[in-house]
Amino acid sequence: MVKNLKREGYFKEVFTIKKEIKCTKCGKKFNMKNILKCECGGIVEVVLHNYSEIKIPQNPNSMWDYFELLPLEDKDNIITLSEGMTPLLKTENLSRQLGIKNLFIKDETRNPTGSFKDRPNTMAISKAKELGIKTITIASSGNASASAAAYAAKAQMKCVVFVPENTPEAKLAQAKCYGAEINRIPGNYSNAFNKALEATKKNNWFNVTSTYLNPYSYEGDKTVSYEIDKLIDVPDYIFVPIGAGPLLHGIYKGYKELRKMGYVKKLPKMVGVQSTGCSPIVDAFENGDNIVRPWNKKVSSIASGIDDPLTGYEDDGTLTLKTIYESSGFGIKITDEEVMNGLYQLAESEGVFAEPAGVIGVAAVKKSLKHNLIKKQDKVVIMITGHGLKNIKAVL
Ligand SMILES: *Cc1c(COP(=O)(O)O)cnc(C)c1O
Ligand SMILES: [Zn+2]
Repeated sequence: MVKNLKREGYFKEVFTIKKEIKCTKCGKKFNMKNILKCECGGIVEVVLHNYSEIKIPQNPNSMWDYFELLPLEDKDNIITLSEGMTPLLKTENLSRQLGIKNLFIKDETRNPTGSFKDRPNTMAISKAKELGIKTITIASSGNASASAAAYAAKAQMKCVVFVPENTPEAKLAQAKCYGAEINRIPGNYSNAFNKALEATKKNNWFNVTSTYLNPYSYEGDKTVSYEIDKLIDVPDYIFVPIGAGPLLHGIYKGYKELRKMGYVKKLPKMVGVQSTGCSPIVDAFENGDNIVRPWNKKVSSIASGIDDPLTGYEDDGTLTLKTIYESSGFGIKITDEEVMNGLYQLAESEGVFAEPAGVIGVAAVKKSLKHNLIKKQDKVVIMITGHGLKNIKAVL
């Protein structure tokens, strides 16, 4: 029988899922627009309705096949470089070395600009197009600005980036070649964050910074969970390098949606990994606190991609902390030496070369096994978030 495509298209229209923005603090609802915070100061989040009507695609080829679950109204606005759909590799040599049987890595280094940031950016910049935006801006420790610049190029928008002065050269080279305006800001990531926010307010730009500032961007991170779930049952633990933590939060949100839709029964425990040189969220976890305080010591670590002191937006850290508690997971911090051992071990055992921030989960799994935080029978996924070539100074 010939498929009646027109008819299928018609049903898609009818069943389009209601999507709106809701404040996580006071519950106020908003239409989808250029919004960063609720008037009450609360973080705003996308919520979907009618989960029972959503069907997950059987044979997805693109993360945009999950369109129904993403906060975009019209498919014509999708700006894509074919991101996502990264391999979930079952480790063989590494798992033998660590004595853990079911150890997987989700290899996000394969994304178009070499880091997972292509997921939040394809989402946010597609939304920017839908909202008629001409200029986007971003604060970043390097990967997110490289990625945003690429998607802005594809969308033919102007891109203004704010990065800390110590940002690795390769990441800056990417942003430069994609045509972004680059502002190098003295000091740490939070300084760049606050500069970008000032410029956003002044010029009414669209800010796609990878914290919880832009409610659309981290919806793109949810797709990681849909992809993992296509291949394996819900893992016991997912290890995620965290700056402010939207990737961790997004993956968990994705699993919660899969549960609402009836695809899974249990949820993974989320492990947030930071460096000892900047660990505001993990320190709060270890102290049993309910809120995260900004990191007011010197920021110093090899994992520059996740060094976020959260100064001025500590609430973002608190939201990640809450997600870790809610999932019954934990936080763990890693020294530079452990990070680098893990980097070499993954490269030598599995042929995957990642930057220090991107590979910090390997050391975290080793340490968690050693301290009996996880067991050898557990099924574990490590998010490998950024390519090794992005920071070669670390290994020379
Ligand atoms: C941005 C980044 C992270 C942290 O992700 P967040 O969602 O911002 O917490 C981890 N690893 C790498 C390589 C990154 O670039
Ligand atoms: Zn509010």
